[in-house]
Amino acid sequence: MGDGTSRGSRRRVLRATGWGSAVVLAGCVSVGEDTSQAGGESSVDRPADWCFDRLDDTVPDVEANATSIDGVERKPEGELASKEEASYQCGPADGDHCGTCTYYIDDRDGDAVGACTEVAGEIRSSDWCALWAPREEIQDE
Ligand code: SF4
Repeated sequence: MGDGTSRGSRRRVLRATGWGSAVVLAGCVSVGEDTSQAGGESSVDRPADWCFDRLDDTVPDVEANATSIDGVERKPEGELASKEEASYQCGPADGDHCGTCTYYIDDRDGDAVGACTEVAGEIRSSDWCALWAPREEIQDE
């Protein structure tokens, strides 16, 4: 288990490199949905963006003003990546999903979707994007 300083440094590095990673990974994100992981959705192969029209572009204040699971503050609205820029996909990737990401903001208003400190709009815990980084409790295992 590291101290707060090293976690902060690691997070800064992840945030600094995340956008570059998203660009690099944009061409290799799986389009199919891994149905064996979070979400429990059907095994039908669907487009990576099939859920976009179910997610509002705006996030309720209770989530917009919240910090992530690991205490990361949400970026200002104008600095958030779009889902397309982050290569967001509807469903997990290799078992990784928003619910295990350090940037995920849990649902705070009971609608079963949360938000993200890095990506705009509502975010489902069962989805994934190229900025994914493990929650601290996973890093420390
Ligand atoms: S994986 Fe999900 S929670 Fe993590 S940065 Fe991407 S959209 Fe945000």
